[in-house]
Amino acid sequence: MLKLINDNNCGWIKDLNPRVNIKTLSKNQNCDFLIVGAGYTGLSAARKLGEIYPNKNITLVDAQLAGEGASSRNSGYLVDATLNDGFTSDRDLENYKKKTDIYKLGIEAVKKFIQEYQVDCDFNECGKYYASSKFEDKKILENFSKVLSNLDFENELLSNKDLKKILGTDFYNVGLYTKGGILLHPGKLVRAMINALPNNVNLFENSFLNNWKINNGKIICEFEKGIIKSKKIIFATNGFLKSLGIKKNYNFPLTLTASMTRPLTTKEYLDIGSPKEWGVLSVRPMGATVRMTKDKRILIRNTAEVSNPFKMTKLELDKRAAIHRIGINKRFPQFPNDIIESTWSGVVSRSRNSSQIFEKLDNNVFVAGCYNGSGIGVGTLFGEQIAIKAANETSEEIKIIEKKKKPTWLPPTFFLDIGVKTRLMYERLRSISDI
Ligand SMILES: Cc1cc2nc3c(=O)[nH]c(=O)nc-3n(C[C@H](O)[C@H](O)[C@H](O)COP(=O)(O)OP(=O)(O)OC[C@H]3O[C@@H](n4cnc5c(N)ncnc54)[C@H](O)[C@@H]3O)c2cc1C
Repeated sequence: MLKLINDNNCGWIKDLNPRVNIKTLSKNQNCDFLIVGAGYTGLSAARKLGEIYPNKNITLVDAQLAGEGASSRNSGYLVDATLNDGFTSDRDLENYKKKTDIYKLGIEAVKKFIQEYQVDCDFNECGKYYASSKFEDKKILENFSKVLSNLDFENELLSNKDLKKILGTDFYNVGLYTKGGILLHPGKLVRAMINALPNNVNLFENSFLNNWKINNGKIICEFEKGIIKSKKIIFATNGFLKSLGIKKNYNFPLTLTASMTRPLTTKEYLDIGSPKEWGVLSVRPMGATVRMTKDKRILIRNTAEVSNPFKMTKLELDKRAAIHRIGINKRFPQFPNDIIESTWSGVVSRSRNSSQIFEKLDNNVFVAGCYNGSGIGVGTLFGEQIAIKAANETSEEIKIIEKKKKPTWLPPTFFLDIGVKTRLMYERLRSISDI
């Protein structure tokens, strides 16, 4: 039987108080709506359905503790645009506009949530940087700057000197600042979504969905210790959509790993020029994302690979931590070798053309996911909106979401694995200086 086993060493989760009153499915249940997956998407869907139907029975299940998948394990960039979407020329500007419209709605959805529930998640509208150590990447940044300007995103090209002053490292030689990005604490955000669940939402954790089928219009879901029968179902399992047979020829899981240092000492911090909180995204897809957090820790994410999404062994994780250490050392050679305090992995979902999934699959079956690494805002938005769709209602947001391109077809797993691995290896070689 499959089981999802996560490491216990995510720096963001360790910042939070352990949760209590965890319920696990132990007997058969009936409900009106079943939501599978309790990350940003599933929690937002459950919150919205609870609001729409205060008297219906809504059940939310997760294979692990709610929110402790990718939604707690990400780098905390709430993005307005990303270079990795591949739009670095005006050729496809209209499609990029559709994508950034969705990002914008995602930011608004998160902002609305944190205002309504008075959430403290270290929300910082400080913008973000794309930066590279390679001078030849300047051309990519100049092109991207033009695209952003055409879409009215404020941005500014930066030199090594500017970047050193802002970031406290002289590793980067070319950069681009975009004003609209937000940095936040992903674990605090998702924890607030768990706390905000309405009373008519039943949450079952550590409850892994093994199989599901539709029988006489009812959805039947088998778990280890019980069956849930539901009138409607929403799949919100993101990196695990494929393993449940959902849109399996349109998305695939990628495993990412990240590390976080301890807080810098006062001396270490002064020595790098006391920079304000910042976040850098890489110019090349396989380069590192690096962040200086509000409490002066450094986060690095520099691996992404096709791997078993259900488990990463300690040995495998230690190997990734060594790559993170190299990345930190390149940027801050003065810091001690043992400065990393935590290392973790997380699973995301990718599509071939970077398009997300938001669909009604069957009469009573809905799915939202596949955010290609940008799920904080879009996951929150898609969760709320797929709930509205499952309630047979519509919204302006749904109209905008449904204008986007659909994910394109992927080859069968064997060929896909070879193709993705080759592509990642190629990208990795091109980004090697910037891991
Ligand atoms: C290292 C890393 C860095 C990232 N950085 C960023 C970033 O800076 N900005 C950004 O926007 N995004 C980032 N992402 C992506 C972002 O975290 C995801 O897009 C987002 O969390 C997706 O939310 P979700 O609710 O759809 O999925 P998840 O948070 O993955 O939740 C899905 C849930 O489904 C559950 N599940 C799976 N299978 C089953 C089953 N069979 N039965 C029951 N439950 C099941 C899982 O346990 C999981 O909790 C990053 C991800 C990682 C891993």
